[in-house]
Formats: sequence, structure tokens, C-alpha cells
Amino acid sequence: MLTPAPPTQPADAVPSRPRLRVPADGPLLLHSCCAPCSGEVMEALLAAGIEYTIFFYNPNIHPEKEYLLRKEENIRFAEQHSVPFVDADYDTPNWFARVRGLEREPERGARCAACFDMRFERTALYAHEHGFPVIASSLGISRWKDMNQINGSGARAAARYASLTWWDYNWRKGGGAQRMIEISKREQFYQQEYCGCVYSFRDTNRHRAAQGRPPIKIGVKFYGRDAG
Ligand code: SF4
Repeated sequence: MLTPAPPTQPADAVPSRPRLRVPADGPLLLHSCCAPCSGEVMEALLAAGIEYTIFFYNPNIHPEKEYLLRKEENIRFAEQHSVPFVDADYDTPNWFARVRGLEREPERGARCAACFDMRFERTALYAHEHGFPVIASSLGISRWKDMNQINGSGARAAARYASLTWWDYNWRKGGGAQRMIEISKREQFYQQEYCGCVYSFRDTNRHRAAQGRPPIKIGVKFYGRDAG
């Protein structure tokens, strides 16, 4: 008798989530940059039964209207899942001081390293002061980001405290990047069109102008809906 062939997955099927293991005992402090990037990370952590708190510290985001849109979307999703959310400072003067002289750097250059360093240093400080043994960030799930740069900044920040670990998990793998888009569409998250700072806003608009596209309009584009 012929043995029936096992069912095959369609070529575009999203693989199931890999088994997550936190590299430390105790709750995780997850730095979140926005709802679209953290949606899959949050759901993966919940599915694995990992206890965590969101830490929203992103003084790089400009202007404030954009900052509030991104933050409110993240709060909405955290509340939906009953995940604790720490709303940290919007200390933009400190951010501008930190990246002074790096205004002309391209994305993924020295300005971004300084930007990650600042955000993860604050994450590490909060973790140290509030008893979190491990930190991670949703930033790395975006294909626009350099994982090595993010992991370098995260490891440097965690190394400031003897008992703190940076979790360098690659959230893109195992279908994470695809699920990030699916979740964003399902939740109709606000869809930002530039990385976040005033310089990325400037450079993205220059790129769009060179392509004959209109400048970015803040607050009009949402996943799963037509752009306004
Ligand atoms: S482009 Fe993005 S990561 Fe780089 S400095 Fe600006 S906000 Fe930070």
C-alpha cells in the first residue's frame, strides 16, 4: 500500500514561531520603538509565557505629533494584552545634544549608533533600578535596521550593570518579519513613513522628491487602510 505523502506547506506559508528562551531568570524589560515593530515581539513573548514590561523611551521621534501617534498606538496594543507599559521621558534636548555633529550622517551610520546607545542606556538604567535582569528591543525586527549595530549598542548598555543581560534575539527570523506586517494590518496600526528623527524625516523627503513623490504627511497612513 502506498503511504500518502505528508501535507506540504504552501511556498509562501509563514513558519511557526521558534521556541523562545530568555537568557536570564526573571522578567524582561522590552524597549519598544513603536507598535508595528513591537506587535510581533509582544505576541511572541506572550505566546511563550515570558513575563515582560514595555519601556517606551524614544526622544528621537520628531515632531511631537508623530511621537504621540506612535506612543498612543503602542499603549493601545499593550492595554489590549494587559502588558505593563512604562512611558519614559521625551527629553528631546538631550537627544539633540547626543547627536550634535552627526546631523549629516546617513541612516545606519554614527548618528544611529548614538541614538541606539542613548535609548538602550536609559532602558538599562531603568532595568537596573527596577529589578529586571534582562533587556531587549523591538528595533531589530525592522529590515531597515542593522542588527549588528543594534546588538552592539544593546550589549554596551547592559554591560554598565553587572547583573544585566542584553538579549540579542533576531526577531526577524522564523517568519517574525512577515508576522509583524500581518499583525500591523490586523490591528490597523499607524504606519510611520520615516525612521523617526528630524534628519530621517529630511532625508526621506529628499528621496521622495527625487522620485517625484509628495512629501510625508504625518498622521494619515495606517496599515490595512488606504492612505489618506
Ligand atoms: S535615523 Fe532613526 S535610528 Fe538613526 S538617528 Fe534618526 S531616529 Fe535614530
